[in-house]
Amino acid sequence: MGTELNIKVKSNLVNKYRGGYPLITKQAINDVGSLEEGVLINLIDEHNAFIGKGYYGKQNKGFGWVLTRNKDEKIDQSFFERKLKAALDKRRSFFQDKETNAFRVFNGEGDGIGGFTIDYFDGYYLINWYSEGIFTYFDHVLTSLKNLVQYKAIYQKKRFRADGKFIEEDGFVDGERGEFPILVKENGVNFAVYFNEEAMVGVFLDQRDVRRTIRDKYAKGKTVLNTFSYTGAFSVFAALGGASKTTSVDLANRSLPKTIEQFSVNGIDYESHDIIVEDVFHYFKYAGKKGLKFDMIILDPPSFARSKKFTFSAEKDYKNLLKEAIAITEKNGVIVASTNSASFDMKKFKGFIDTAFKESNSKYKIEEEFSLPRDFQTIREFKEGNYLKVVFIKKLNG
Ligand code: SAH
Repeated sequence: MGTELNIKVKSNLVNKYRGGYPLITKQAINDVGSLEEGVLINLIDEHNAFIGKGYYGKQNKGFGWVLTRNKDEKIDQSFFERKLKAALDKRRSFFQDKETNAFRVFNGEGDGIGGFTIDYFDGYYLINWYSEGIFTYFDHVLTSLKNLVQYKAIYQKKRFRADGKFIEEDGFVDGERGEFPILVKENGVNFAVYFNEEAMVGVFLDQRDVRRTIRDKYAKGKTVLNTFSYTGAFSVFAALGGASKTTSVDLANRSLPKTIEQFSVNGIDYESHDIIVEDVFHYFKYAGKKGLKFDMIILDPPSFARSKKFTFSAEKDYKNLLKEAIAITEKNGVIVASTNSASFDMKKFKGFIDTAFKESNSKYKIEEEFSLPRDFQTIREFKEGNYLKVVFIKKLNG
């Protein structure tokens, strides 16, 4: 580090960066040649005037992030510590909440530094690094955490690694090693969490408000189909909200023991619920043949997925997924349609919903909508950072 490179932004995009857009995209800069990961970059306009300072770090999203539009601001230990402190201060009410001890404390560009996130799990801090470039600032982040918080331990995942080996050994960085699973709480509900598995830890924290809404407002007395269910988090909340039965469907073998575990750590008899390891699209066919119908269907697919028979891309295939669900939803039943795809916005998502119902000759009413919760801080200048879109849709006809 130490050296700073000047890189020209294409003239048609200069205003965007002057307006605070933080992601350094491939389209914005001309030939960058081969840059060293983590190197500081000064973005300049065609007249060599300073626009902003950032770092180079290759991610699937882009080439790095702008960190400041102040030419004189130093990107040093104190910069990282200031950003981290501001982020922690914003989460003060989360730290005081007795019912929830798992939440995000640093959300990348939303908190001023794109490329990494930090989640809090009952005294443990988990850092996710999304580029080699940001990882070169490891010492700054670690020192900041040491200065700002008390922790049981810090863990990390290097999500940038192409070989999928996101953790070295168990991902331990500092403190005292935990024993996995650790049990954390969300609105009074337990989650068994593992840092020593590859990408995922057992719970997606960004769905917290959706889970609570299902439990508190929708589940009572209902039959619930939870598709792409992973550890069954939605099923557990539905069961605790009084669902008459939940059915969880996920293709991955691990989903069976993991769902049993999530039910069990909440004192629910998993045997009174169905946990099915199967391709969701097969299951829809089976349910159609058997004439099965549900009062509530949760759709939470990954943005992209490939199984033996199907490839799924949210942008291309969400409409058809909805049609499969509409066909087996009871009259006045509710479909919870969720997507974390950043490649389309809420407006387009609602377009998929509308088309799916029209093509099914069915009528609907949108009951409520969710985007990212408060701890997943986002900024106006980077709308695509608010990737989560969840819509509760009531099917009005039988
Ligand atoms: N809804 C979950 C998170 C889903 S993660 C939660 O709230 O925790 C995406 C899941 O989709 C993964 O567990 C993956 O195994 C599963 N999956 C991907 N393609 C699938 C398919 N065709 N059928 C069933 N499950 C699938």
